[in-house]
Amino acid sequence: MASKLQINLGGVAIGGGAPISIQTMTNTKTEDVDATVAQICQVESAGCDIVRVSCNTKAAAESLGKIISRVSIPVVADIHFHYKLAIISIENGAHCVRINPGNMDESGFREIVRCAEEHGIPIRIGVNSGSLEREILDKYHEPNSDALVESAMLNEKKMYDFGYPNFKISIKSSDVKTCIDANRKLSCSSEHPIHVGLTESGPVFSGTIKSSACLGALLCDGVGDTIRVSLSGDPVEEVKVGRQILKAFNLLDKSVNIISCPTCSRTVINVIELSKNIEDKYGNLQKKANISILGCVVNGIGEAEHSDIGIFGIKQGVAKIYFKGKEYLSTCEEKDIMTVVDELILDV
Ligand code: SF4
Repeated sequence: MASKLQINLGGVAIGGGAPISIQTMTNTKTEDVDATVAQICQVESAGCDIVRVSCNTKAAAESLGKIISRVSIPVVADIHFHYKLAIISIENGAHCVRINPGNMDESGFREIVRCAEEHGIPIRIGVNSGSLEREILDKYHEPNSDALVESAMLNEKKMYDFGYPNFKISIKSSDVKTCIDANRKLSCSSEHPIHVGLTESGPVFSGTIKSSACLGALLCDGVGDTIRVSLSGDPVEEVKVGRQILKAFNLLDKSVNIISCPTCSRTVINVIELSKNIEDKYGNLQKKANISILGCVVNGIGEAEHSDIGIFGIKQGVAKIYFKGKEYLSTCEEKDIMTVVDELILDV
């Protein structure tokens, strides 16, 4: 189930009934402030709510201040191994630090928590199948879902022992089923917000499908308060895929949903080209709208009656257009359809 507790990450609420936020991670060199800022602006335009940057060197962690002053979405510092880099990142304005307690010692972990508390920022406890604590791995012999959850709960307990319950948790595995199982179990064990995502899911095409399968199963169960799709590709693609997944579950307030048919012998307008053009132009628009494009009257009228903009073919090269469920144009030449959509979308 969705988490009961809520955290505030640089102004974005996570958990406790807040809208599910979309995250990605930059792949520029963080020290290259101009390139990193440019990429953050790109992902923000694509609909990203929170961005994470690697702080793997002192220079990278020190660059955060300059980066944060030039962007408008919250920035999470991604830290591994070196607790001092987390401290530098926090002192340079990080809105959250993502740490992996499995790859640092407890005194460093405690120092990070103390510094986060001083600055009032949340922590993301990131448990990853590739870096479990030695004793847990010895107990389970493999990074299965029980091992991952045990690690997460062990670190949750440490956060409470440190007296700082301002955190979210992520459990990541590159295996779809393990990731689903682990996050389902975690949601039953913890009340803290959960960051979900399939790690290292692969190149854009196959990674999109694997991530959709994983996040789809979890979101369907109400598990997940913030998501990241992890692809070997442009971070902008990750954001677009994340948005599409949320759209599929009606979890994105402002988004254009395109309903289009697969086409068949009855098709009398070019649905494939039209739906692609509409998606390219409006797929990322942050506005709530349903647009249906169907090749013939079979399902065309029914879908149009339930769409903001409904288009369906009535004879070769000619469509009928509905607006907000009512007939708007009884005939529209195929070549004019995009112009009509351009006008109507302004009034949706
Ligand atoms: S809506 Fe019409 S054109 Fe499209 S797949 Fe169905 S029957 Fe074929």
